[in-house]
Amino acid sequence: MGDLFDKFDPIIAEKAALLATGVNDPFNLVMEKVHSPTEATVNGRETILVGTYNYMGMTFDPDVIAAGKEALDQYGAGTTGSRVLNGTYQGHREVEEALKDFYGTSHAMVFSTGYQANLGLMATMAARGEYIILDADSHASIYDGCAMGNADIVRFRHNSVEDLDKRLGRLPAEAGKLVVLEGVYSMLGDIAPLKEMVAVAKKYGAMVVVDEAHGMGFFGPNGRGVYEAAGVEADVDFVVGTFSKSVGTVGGFVVSNHPKFEVLRLVCRPYVFTASLPPSVVATAATSIRKLKHAHNKRQHLWENSRKLHSGLKAKGFKIATETAESAIIAVLMPGQEACARMWSALIELGVYVNMARPPATPAGMFLLRCSLCAEHRAEQVDIIIDRFVQAAEIAGIPLND
Ligand code: PMP
Repeated sequence: MGDLFDKFDPIIAEKAALLATGVNDPFNLVMEKVHSPTEATVNGRETILVGTYNYMGMTFDPDVIAAGKEALDQYGAGTTGSRVLNGTYQGHREVEEALKDFYGTSHAMVFSTGYQANLGLMATMAARGEYIILDADSHASIYDGCAMGNADIVRFRHNSVEDLDKRLGRLPAEAGKLVVLEGVYSMLGDIAPLKEMVAVAKKYGAMVVVDEAHGMGFFGPNGRGVYEAAGVEADVDFVVGTFSKSVGTVGGFVVSNHPKFEVLRLVCRPYVFTASLPPSVVATAATSIRKLKHAHNKRQHLWENSRKLHSGLKAKGFKIATETAESAIIAVLMPGQEACARMWSALIELGVYVNMARPPATPAGMFLLRCSLCAEHRAEQVDIIIDRFVQAAEIAGIPLND
């Protein structure tokens, strides 16, 4: 009898070899205590967090916490059911209202995670004989949704308007098409040229979805995302998002103005066949979303922090994935897996947590230390992060540019 685990032997061996070099395990970290959106105790040490998606620092907002506690007391710990059966409470309605108001759309549908929102939309909206056209660097949830459905999948080169145009031009004119874009691409922190891309999609009569997981709260006058900042709201058919980043809790959603949108509640399997979010979670999300709409000062401070970290690290000789700070994600390029893990490990021992990212999450075999900023980082914390990057590079033997 073959052991079905044997196929994972190369991964087991790779991890063992990496840990044998003496580094801490970057994928097995425990936050022993979390003090604020930017500080935690890790391995008994006070640590600055610069590898979370807590962009707007809403996890510890007093109004958000109070709303969660009240809902927990009033409605209990969970719904124990699907949205289409016993799992829609008043709070689920309210968070959908908060989303409609935030996005200025006529419909909003809340899923249990952003991953499931993408699974549901991709697998359901395009059927056999129809096409999904997606950026090659799309998030795993978009790819997984495509794999779950029956549409034909066409990939275009990352952020290439020309390649999108070429590939759309080859498809049958009458076939249904869904172009899938992301506002911010989470590995490199680069943003999509949405104005041009949406125009190309519309030229070929395609419907458009933009995943604003990393743009919500931060981009655009109302914090709707990169598509708002790009002025293409009228031509975007669906926006997908998550509560697990700027909103500061967990959950996912799709918003739209399409008059037939509500049918998705009946046909979207990742919406129907799973339990709905706990009442405390939807209450925290609704409160957070209402506050994000007016969080202009936080948006401005997050931009200041992002630009400061980008220019600071660049000035010290680190290679960054983008020329300037395009978003709150600053991805520092590392020469390889071992160097990346050494540097990550040195940083954690100096009290700085960043994300280590590696293939298959990253494009083109890249190894990255991804910093993501928070509106609640103080300028002094950003200075400390830059200093500790320099110290860590010395400890880990990472060469820096002159
Ligand atoms: N889309 C993108 C672009 C993401 O980066 C993520 C999460 N990292 C998701 C969707 C899924 O979000 P969630 O955490 O809510 O499942």
